[in-house]
Amino acid sequence: MTLRRFACILLAGVGTAAMSAEPAISIAFPRAGARLPAITNVYCIGAVATNISATLTVNGATTDVYRTGAFLAMVPVRSGTNEIAAVWGTNVLKRMFTVAQPPPPQPTDKGAAPQPRSQHDPYKDLGIPTNAVFAASPPRGRKPSDVLVMVDAGHGGSDTGTISPHGWYEKDVNLMQARAIRDELRRVGFKVVMTRDDDSYPPLYSRPRNAWRMKVDAFISVHHNATAADSNPRLVRHTTTYVSNAKGLPLAAAIQRHIARELGHIRDCGAQEKSLAVCRNPAVASCLLEVDFINLPEGEAESWDPARHRRVAKAVALGVLDWMME
Ligand SMILES: [Zn+2]
Repeated sequence: MTLRRFACILLAGVGTAAMSAEPAISIAFPRAGARLPAITNVYCIGAVATNISATLTVNGATTDVYRTGAFLAMVPVRSGTNEIAAVWGTNVLKRMFTVAQPPPPQPTDKGAAPQPRSQHDPYKDLGIPTNAVFAASPPRGRKPSDVLVMVDAGHGGSDTGTISPHGWYEKDVNLMQARAIRDELRRVGFKVVMTRDDDSYPPLYSRPRNAWRMKVDAFISVHHNATAADSNPRLVRHTTTYVSNAKGLPLAAAIQRHIARELGHIRDCGAQEKSLAVCRNPAVASCLLEVDFINLPEGEAESWDPARHRRVAKAVALGVLDWMME
């Protein structure tokens, strides 16, 4: 899951390398020309090439660079001009970036008033009948080989999801993690289908709709999180599983219990309620994993680790098995 404002543009290869050892700096956030509040606590996230040990400063304050080259500057970015500098030996590479002020608020268009919430049918836009039911949930007493699970790798195609300090895309790590979950569920004996197994973008609502049409028993969407622009990802890092209705809650709670146990060093925020398109399915127990925060350098490094994918996959499979026995 991501906030749109986190769809950052990677600005790689700053300056032409006069010396081969010159470090390139990339900035994942804030994006070029971003419009942010005048006084802001936005943190600067990016990476510096690792072939040289440079000291990095953001607006004059030294910031730690991880072994991977990623950095999370703990210095609030200012509206106006900000500066990142890499210093190595007697060399200095400076990189300026500008943060503009937000546009003035526009008058509300009276003709386009939002629909009153009470009239909003949360299922209508999914094209699934509200009373659609075709199997007992959870599927108690059935063998895994009689249970069909749909694994959804979040985002895809031109929808990159969050961008990490190195400019890596959430859609790619979601797919890697989703494949590991598929493989583990199949190893345990479940039948598994994927919403995508490549870099395509199945339309958002088609994912729960196909889960309904294919009569799957469980729908598990795989995402990685990012903080809002004004919060420090180091403070908010957590793992959670979202759910949008009572049908999905036992599944989400069982999976989250095992993921939290497996990722003991990351704060466990449990199963949480949120109205999400892929989870509002009235017919299929559905949940959405936010495994970790990939805009945090630690979260980025761990989220791209295949061994971690396998550990999370095992936790998910144990969660699905628990859910079937509830
Ligand atoms: Zn996402």
